Amino acid sequence: MEAPISTRQARLRSLLKARKLDHLLITHIPNVYYLTGFRGSAGMALLGEGDAVLFVDPRYTLQAKDQARGVEVTEAKQRLIEAVGGWLKTSKAKEVGCDDSSLSYATWRALQQAVGRRCRLRSAGGLVEGMRMVKDPFELGLIRRAALLTSEVFEDVRRLVKPGASEMDLATEIEYRLKRKGAEGVAFESIVASGPRSALPHARASSKLLKKNEFVIFDLGAIISGYAADMTRTLYLGTPDTRARRIYQAVFDAEKTGIKAVRPGTRAGAVDATVRRSLARRRLDEYFTHSTGHGVGLEVHEKPRLGRGDKQRLDPGFVVTVEPGVYLEGFGGVRVEDTVAIGKDGPEVLTSSPKEDWIIP
Ligand code: ZN
Ligand code: ZN
Repeated sequence: MEAPISTRQARLRSLLKARKLDHLLITHIPNVYYLTGFRGSAGMALLGEGDAVLFVDPRYTLQAKDQARGVEVTEAKQRLIEAVGGWLKTSKAKEVGCDDSSLSYATWRALQQAVGRRCRLRSAGGLVEGMRMVKDPFELGLIRRAALLTSEVFEDVRRLVKPGASEMDLATEIEYRLKRKGAEGVAFESIVASGPRSALPHARASSKLLKKNEFVIFDLGAIISGYAADMTRTLYLGTPDTRARRIYQAVFDAEKTGIKAVRPGTRAGAVDATVRRSLARRRLDEYFTHSTGHGVGLEVHEKPRLGRGDKQRLDPGFVVTVEPGVYLEGFGGVRVEDTVAIGKDGPEVLTSSPKEDWIIP
């Protein structure tokens, strides 16, 4: 199966028409990949009614010609933004939208200088990100594979979880095994955080050794062909006391309730509210200090956000995480996270590692 690049370009063209834009300048690299198929680390694309150009520097000319589709590849002799400006200056374009949610002020200024009064630059950030929220079957296939691989690797690494293993060793095992099994990389630096460190929602793995009677949080994700998965599991080494059991059960239940709430037509903020209500029933909502989830795709954090009051409606084709957590300073934390695809009939959980089996005696 191939990425439906021409369909995506056609969709973007109709969005530009509706906004009365002649062209869109695409500068955010995941957006460039999404719309052209080019996977280099630098490049800018201009897409208009009747043309599409991909500007790359000489390092990437051959790669771009090989990977990109539906665009004319232009090698920039100067800075990319100057090449874009030069091209616009000699075109008929008047109204040019910019991917400005990821464009630096300096680049914006340089572009303005390059085009002069020839065309008007307009803010059009988020246009491509909006399209990217709905995954096509090609993308879903890749995310599904990334999720499966992530789950498999966690199941393997679970066997290495014992007192005396260091967080860093386990994080390294995760990365090594993900790559050995076919991931092209990790979606983010794997989190392995144990004991009191598990109360830090974004702790990086440290040299700390695991001990009996503490929580260990694992947050990991594979990338396959640019697409990420994101999964968190929490284990307990030893024999959990009543408090540890209570917290785990509360997060486990909140996540389950949250996943059920991820349905077409629901607002993102409503899922967040459901999760918070579930934790509030156990008086643990005040220890849930981040939002409930986020979109996953070409970026591990992308639209939509599932946070307080988020109005975005969830539609079929979205892929989001549900990841409640409870973090008690000095004691430890629990987070459970799954990557979930929204189908016409409801949620499909893509990350499959079991959650009931959380105690390692
Ligand atoms: Zn995560
Ligand atoms: Zn996440």
